[in-house]
Amino acid sequence: MPNWCYNRLVIGGDGKEVKKVLNFVQGKNGILDFNKIIPMPKEIEDSTKESTIDAITLQQKKQNKKPESKKGMPSWYEWSVQNWGTKWNCSEASLESTNPVTIRFDTAWSPPVPVIVALGAMFPKVSLHCHLSGTPDFFFPKQNLALFVDGCFWHGCSRCGQRAPKTRARWWQEKISGNKRRDRKANSSLKKMGIKVVRVWECQLKKPKQVERIVRNLKIILDF
Ligand SMILES: [Zn+2]
Repeated sequence: MPNWCYNRLVIGGDGKEVKKVLNFVQGKNGILDFNKIIPMPKEIEDSTKESTIDAITLQQKKQNKKPESKKGMPSWYEWSVQNWGTKWNCSEASLESTNPVTIRFDTAWSPPVPVIVALGAMFPKVSLHCHLSGTPDFFFPKQNLALFVDGCFWHGCSRCGQRAPKTRARWWQEKISGNKRRDRKANSSLKKMGIKVVRVWECQLKKPKQVERIVRNLKIILDF
């Protein structure tokens, strides 16, 4: 089974413009269809001869083995990862709230960062705020910026001197260095997509002066 990312997209702005976005993103996949924003080329879709939902079942049966690509063409799997930033179209999408307009949806393994960036570029009159659970904590499509707030213990902060417990010290060390490795990987894959990454330590948010500095820096980056 994949690890699901639980995402929330909040669309703000003039009611008519927001409605335009809602109408536009609707497709075969339901109220949010990635194909409407970054369409999968028909020949790639056809090459699979499976619907996305069938593909999910097939994938799970094969224990997530990647499908083969044909005739030098990327498989739908490779194409989705490259273009949508996630394996499959979203699932379980629903309109969670109408004020503000909020769509919640799940994606497999990773958040669909390129899809949200593309949607932001298509509708510059609305504001899109995407809260992506999993990684990153916050994503600002207009500024193309991912913000992480890292828990000091779990992410191995060296600033505040939080140490791993003495019992099972080795197990904890391995666990925390695994998290740090994952953080580095997330940074580099986001940067490859052209996304700025900002990481803030939990302990920095406990000191008012540091919070002021972080907010000041974010204001400059985010231009608000
Ligand atoms: Zn810390």
